[in-house]
Amino acid sequence: MNFDYDLIVIGAGSGGVRAARVAASHGAKVAIAEEFRVGGTCVIRGCVPKKLYVLASRFHDEFEDAAGFGWRVGDVSFDWASLVAAKEKEITRLSDLYAETLASSGVELVRARAMLTDPNGVRFSNGRSARARYILVATGGAPALAPHIPGIEFGVSSNEIFDLPKFPQRLLIVGAGYIAVEFASVFARLGAKTHLAYRADLPLRGFDDDLRTRLCDALKSAGVEHRAGALPTRVTKCVGGLEVEMSDGAPLTVDCLLVATGRRPMTQNLGLEAAGVALRENGAVAVDAHSRTNINSIYAVGDVTDRLNLTPVAIREGQAFADSVFGETPTTVDYEHTPSAVFTTPEIGTVGLTEAEALARHGALDIYEAQFRPMRATLSGRGERVYMKLIVDAASGRVRGAHIFGPEAGEMAQLVAIALCMGATKSDFDATMALHPTMAEELVTMRVPSRRLTAQS
Ligand code: NDP
Repeated sequence: MNFDYDLIVIGAGSGGVRAARVAASHGAKVAIAEEFRVGGTCVIRGCVPKKLYVLASRFHDEFEDAAGFGWRVGDVSFDWASLVAAKEKEITRLSDLYAETLASSGVELVRARAMLTDPNGVRFSNGRSARARYILVATGGAPALAPHIPGIEFGVSSNEIFDLPKFPQRLLIVGAGYIAVEFASVFARLGAKTHLAYRADLPLRGFDDDLRTRLCDALKSAGVEHRAGALPTRVTKCVGGLEVEMSDGAPLTVDCLLVATGRRPMTQNLGLEAAGVALRENGAVAVDAHSRTNINSIYAVGDVTDRLNLTPVAIREGQAFADSVFGETPTTVDYEHTPSAVFTTPEIGTVGLTEAEALARHGALDIYEAQFRPMRATLSGRGERVYMKLIVDAASGRVRGAHIFGPEAGEMAQLVAIALCMGATKSDFDATMALHPTMAEELVTMRVPSRRLTAQS
């Protein structure tokens, strides 16, 4: 069969760009289709702009804390429009850089929407059609707005929140996952009266409970009003804002409603049915460990497969796909020790199993915990505490989980992940010389377990 390309990638986000670039480096003729901006969620409306806004929000605490160190800071004020413009400039720079990298790698960028017509055929929205030996679906995910109540369409998602024309003085956030708590932390510090409404009793379901309780308290200290167990039941427009009826009977009037209730895989109107690609019940593309769908010529990586929806994971999956299919090096991705951070202030950094997960897998656990006031708080007077927990399998001594709540927890989790990946035991941690004075030194100086847990206890 004659093909126009060895590979057509649909979606120029983190996973798609990596796969296209690496496939081209292995000698493949590659085209990548993108209907929006090159870079995908991470660069355009996810990790990158989010982290920039997190950094912006942290100046709030910096100005306050400076006084304890002898600084006199004059009147400070925050200008939303300046931040939005600076963010826009940076993501445009990054997006252009991604496009340049694709070009210099020999990948053809098709600025159009692509739809599958059969297992090897693609039709672009610019009217062109092409055939490829392999097709990679890397279309990512999109916000899923819930609950389905009258007026939910007046809310915005994480796609729009970065570019609100006006700073919301009163903000209601629905949900309590990564996006909800990160934006609650950001907007409260930038000066918004922020409410967080969620159906569970604590934010961040799935994270270790000791982190969840501490994050909840920290958000409260930052001024975030928690509405645990309460959700909106109706949203209507009113003069200057939105009127939100709540299930607990206490309505709210806000300028903006951010709905952060998860994301769904982008598999609609892609022609997947025409190509015979099987989907999972939640609409994600079903793939095997090699990211191959039920159709031999079609693969999928990243959030569209709803495995572990994180940028570095999509990049690894894209790399593994390209190395396997075009580099003659069959590779699969190991998800076991994927670190994760929640960029609230303070942050959460975590790798490995939660206490509950470890208990379900291992007979007995030793839990090591440290809780302390960071040095900076001694002079600033901020009532902040750092918390660290190591979960150790009592039988083997291996550290199965590390959970950190405090400044730069994400940075620490990244490095601890190396140790866990290598199978480090608690004795390896103990044998590591401390680096003083740091917060991270506590990770290697915890000597006595605070608790011994067994499956029966
Ligand atoms: P999450 O899946 O993390 O959280 C979804 C939240 O919405 C949960 O609190 C959930 O509640 C709630 N929810 C879901 N359905 C409903 C409903 N019908 N009614 C009310 N509440 C509901 O999604 P996010 O949107 O926060 O983030 C999406 C993904 O983006 C994450 O999975 C993550 O992979 C990625 N991400 C990663 C970041 C990072 O690494 N720092 C940052 C931002 C996003 P409940 O817990 O009760 O189910």
